[in-house]
Amino acid sequence: MEILTERWYCDSCDEVIETVDDGWVEWIGEKDSTLWTQYKEIRLVHARKACQFDEKKHGEPVHDLPLEMFLGPDGLSRLLHFLEHWYVPSIQLIEFIRRLHVPGYEEARRDFPEALRRTIITEGDFVSQSEIRMILDDYNPLLDP
Ligand SMILES: [Zn+2]
Repeated sequence: MEILTERWYCDSCDEVIETVDDGWVEWIGEKDSTLWTQYKEIRLVHARKACQFDEKKHGEPVHDLPLEMFLGPDGLSRLLHFLEHWYVPSIQLIEFIRRLHVPGYEEARRDFPEALRRTIITEGDFVSQSEIRMILDDYNPLLDP
């Protein structure tokens, strides 16, 4: 059975983002940076004020778009364009692309430390779909005390 990513975790409140419409992507610039292509962070948050970056409070510029704009083939192309033009540190952006475009990755990644400990996945190697399936099948929060 194909693994689907249909919910995500908010980088601000750590709660589940239940629907695409409830998701928001923002990339945050360096304070005083004059380069509009330089950002220090990209994050996925709820599409609500409480979770979104407060530009006024932090004095750092933020750009943002709905999550929907980063999904599907055009969303992937948009993220690869960011990567190509160094909009955001590449290691961070690559992980972000995995979260949005590798099926099941977002759900499974929270259990990576445990999966590493149990050698379901290997340090330094990529995480395959069969490993993600094992992690998702294995971990059931309703059964775990
Ligand atoms: Zn949130």
